Amino acid sequence: MIRISRTAVRGPAAKPAPTPERHTTARAASAKPAPTPARRAALHHALLAWYRRNARDLPWRRTRDAWAIWVSEVMLQQTRVETARPFYLRFIERYPTPASFSRAHEDDVLAAWAGLGYYRRARQLHEAARDVVREHGGRVPRDPESFGNLPGVGRYTQAAVLSIGFGTPLAVLDGNVARVLSRLFALKASVREARGARALWALAESLIPARAPGDWNQALMELGAMVCTPRTPRCAACPLQKQCRAFALGRVAAYPPRAPRREMERVRRAVALIERHGRVLMTRRRGPLLDGLWEPPGVELKNGESARAKLAAALRRLGVRAAFEPTGRVVRHVITHRKIEVEVWRGSRAPEPPRGSRYVSATDSGVALTAFARRLMRDLE
Ligand code: SF4
Repeated sequence: MIRISRTAVRGPAAKPAPTPERHTTARAASAKPAPTPARRAALHHALLAWYRRNARDLPWRRTRDAWAIWVSEVMLQQTRVETARPFYLRFIERYPTPASFSRAHEDDVLAAWAGLGYYRRARQLHEAARDVVREHGGRVPRDPESFGNLPGVGRYTQAAVLSIGFGTPLAVLDGNVARVLSRLFALKASVREARGARALWALAESLIPARAPGDWNQALMELGAMVCTPRTPRCAACPLQKQCRAFALGRVAAYPPRAPRREMERVRRAVALIERHGRVLMTRRRGPLLDGLWEPPGVELKNGESARAKLAAALRRLGVRAAFEPTGRVVRHVITHRKIEVEVWRGSRAPEPPRGSRYVSATDSGVALTAFARRLMRDLE
C-alpha cells in the first residue's frame, strides 16, 4: 500500500524567496550546483502539466481557504490521506473557522482528533486558533513571519499553507519531496541529518516558481506519494524521468541515502481495570506523551518492579482502595519508537469516581481515549 502521510522536515521559519539574491544564498548551502534556469523551466512545465492531469481529487484541494488548508496540513502530518479524509470533513464542518475552533473545550478538541493520534498537533492548532482570534482578527495571517510565529507552525506548515492558500512563493520539504529531490538531483542528502536537511531545503527553495508555488509544492508531494515512492518508484510513468539524474545513472535505489534506524525502547506498564455497570474507570494521562487523553489508571514498571504494589500505590494516591488480581492479559502496542507491553489487572471493587476520573463506556464518543484504551474497550465489548 502506498504511504502518503506527510512527515514535515523541521527547519527555521522561512521568508518568501522570490528574489535572485535569496536563491543565490540558498544555492551556496547546497551540496550540488543549483539547477539552471532552463532545467528549472523544464521541471516546472513537466511536473505542473502532470499534476493538473493526475492530481487526486481530495477535499482540501477544492478550497483556497487558508484555515481549511492549515487543518488538512496538520492532519496529514504522520497520518495517511485516506485516514485523514473523514476526520478532516467532520472537523471542517464543525469548526469552519479559527474562531469556531478557538471556542472549543479541551475535551472536544481531543475528541475531534481521537483516532488520528499525535494529539499535540490538535492542542497546538487550538492554541494557534486562539492566537489568530486574539491577534489577527480571526483571519489566518498572510504574512509569513506572523503565521510562522503561531504555535505548532514550523517551516513546512508555514510554506504549505501560505503557498497553497495565498500563493506565497515558499518551498515545502517533507519526506516525499526530499525523496524526489534526492533522486532528481542524485543528491546524497538525508532529511534526518541537519546537513542533509539544509541542502535539501536549499534545493527546494531554488526550485520554487514565482507562479503557482502552491501547485508546484503539491505536485512534488503528489509525485512522491504516487509515483516516486520509497521502494518501487514507477519511473516508466514519471513525468520527470528525462530530467532525473538517479534514473540516468541507473542508481535510483541509492537515493536518498538510508538513515540509521532509531532503536526501539521497550516499556512495561500495568493498568487497573475497574468496571461498573459496563463502564470502565479512566483518568487523564499527564505528561509529554498522550497528555490529556483518557485511559484506565496505570503505572510504568521498571525492571523487577511488582505491578501489584505499584498499581495499589498509584490508585491509593488517586483515592481508590481496591485489591487487584492479574487477568493474565498482556496488550502490546507501539507508540513512535516505544514498544509497550501492558499487563491488565482487575480491581476488586468499583468506587465512586474520585476527582479527575470518570467511568467511560465503549459508546461515549465525546471522550478522547488513547488508542490503547479504545482497544481495551473494544475487547471488553
Ligand atoms: Fe523518481 Fe524515477 Fe521519476 Fe526519478 S524517474 S523522479 S526516480 S520516479
